[in-house]
Amino acid sequence: MTRIHRRRALLTLALLVGGLLPACGDVYDLPALAAGEVPTIRVLLGGRKRRQATLRIVGQAWVVTSEGGQAFTRRGRGDVNALVRAGARGIAIGPDDTGATILRVHPDRHFELEGIRYAGDLLLRREQDRIRFVNEVDVETYVTGVIPNEMAPQASAAAYRAQAVAARTYGWIRVSAPGAAGRPWHVTDDQSSQVYTGLDPRYEVRYAPMVEHAASTAGVVLTWKSRPFPAYYSSTCGGHTTDARTSLLDPDGATGPLRGVRCEFCTTSPRYAWNKSVSDADVVAGLKARNRAIIPPVHGIEVTRRGAGGWAAEVSVTYGPKRRIRKLPGPDFRSALRLDSHLITSIVRRPGGFRLEGRGWGHGVGMCQWGAMVMAQRGFSETEILRWYYPGASFSRIY
Ligand SMILES: [Zn+2]
Repeated sequence: MTRIHRRRALLTLALLVGGLLPACGDVYDLPALAAGEVPTIRVLLGGRKRRQATLRIVGQAWVVTSEGGQAFTRRGRGDVNALVRAGARGIAIGPDDTGATILRVHPDRHFELEGIRYAGDLLLRREQDRIRFVNEVDVETYVTGVIPNEMAPQASAAAYRAQAVAARTYGWIRVSAPGAAGRPWHVTDDQSSQVYTGLDPRYEVRYAPMVEHAASTAGVVLTWKSRPFPAYYSSTCGGHTTDARTSLLDPDGATGPLRGVRCEFCTTSPRYAWNKSVSDADVVAGLKARNRAIIPPVHGIEVTRRGAGGWAAEVSVTYGPKRRIRKLPGPDFRSALRLDSHLITSIVRRPGGFRLEGRGWGHGVGMCQWGAMVMAQRGFSETEILRWYYPGASFSRIY
């Protein structure tokens, strides 16, 4: 009997004896780490700076105030549509140049930026002839706007709840970091942080159930030695997750929960296995783009060190007339060759190139999202899922 089956059997026994089946997820009876109001998080929308964007303010009462440059305040009632752009002096809303370089838009309901709806406030920052758009929103609403994008649309409730705890932990670490209060934004809205689309999920799922999934775990984060830790996750682990170091991620001391575990749950993922053929020229160009210049010919590629689960920690490329060896970390090799993962299982020489095979999609650290989805479908709760992928981790409340 595997560890997880044993745990499942014990849980079933406990439920039979106790007759207490939690109606909605696990019961968290925990002391708060930082009691108080739900903190806000600032999310950079759309990544790059933009020259202009369409804004709609929705509600019965709204106020726009300056936080930098000339003093500016405007109050209004009813919905407003405007083009926001960098004016000659400050941020222009519609035909008016406000003269302010930072503006806060506070709607009483929500705002729409380029047609996507968001709760909370919109902060506009003028930088030369461009504008950055930042959504300041409470962490719970942020988590609600992340989980439908980070979990597959066919996922069941426990998978969304597990994703909510992981996403909240990540968000909390960013807002509670030293100096975070003064930062213009804490996270981006794309995969370099967590994918967030406000009140409009990217997939065809309804927002209302997402509110329930987030609310049923409200305030709960993952901790290691009583401290929240970076609860990384990735799409598909290919059979075994890996340790943070192998993927060049900072475990921030949480080497226990981020050490890599077996996963038998993601075999049905369309990204479970991959293969890719690359030419010698692809290898030369890819390494050059990663500032690891080599000269042809390429004689061989070899995984020379492996981390947890067999993930490539180091790849060595033999090249040039003198048969020199260029070593690079597995994740860098992955991005140089645009591989799905650095869980590389086979490298075979072919005329003019190589055929590589591997498993998984993503960096492979922490929760395997496809695996979490399958575990939830098989009846595991969110705490069982999270304890599986972050071994030794505990749960705490932050508020
Ligand atoms: Zn997996």
